[in-house]
Amino acid sequence: MMRRCMVVLVVLLAAGAMVAGDRQVVCVLCGDYTFSEKDGVSATYEGKRIHLCSLKELTALQKNPDKYVWGTDVVTGRRVHKIKTTFTVDRRVKVRKKDGKNEVWPRRFFFESQKSRDEFLRNPAKYIKEPYAV
Ligand SMILES: [Zn+2]
Repeated sequence: MMRRCMVVLVVLLAAGAMVAGDRQVVCVLCGDYTFSEKDGVSATYEGKRIHLCSLKELTALQKNPDKYVWGTDVVTGRRVHKIKTTFTVDRRVKVRKKDGKNEVWPRRFFFESQKSRDEFLRNPAKYIKEPYAV
């Protein structure tokens, strides 16, 4: 019994350290969900704290917030507010870069409802054509 308590305590401490120093965040612009908060840039949009990979992306967002804050639900084809929606899926997808090489990138997908998120999860290959062109 004592041993089990020790294990729980250690796990809690590790989780606390992650939140304080090195929390993983998602980039609103490109959907990369794997970078550390301290390595990116943060900003406030409509009262909410948001994160971006780089200053270049922050500049792009500032110039045209509507273009980047809104994404497309790949199931319904409708616009979805990337900051407000709670229906998301994180996946690693194969992308084809401009130089023709393929890489695997982490991407968050945004959905307008639980229904379209569920539909996506039933058959992701139907909605993501890999490799992506970027
Ligand atoms: Zn980004």
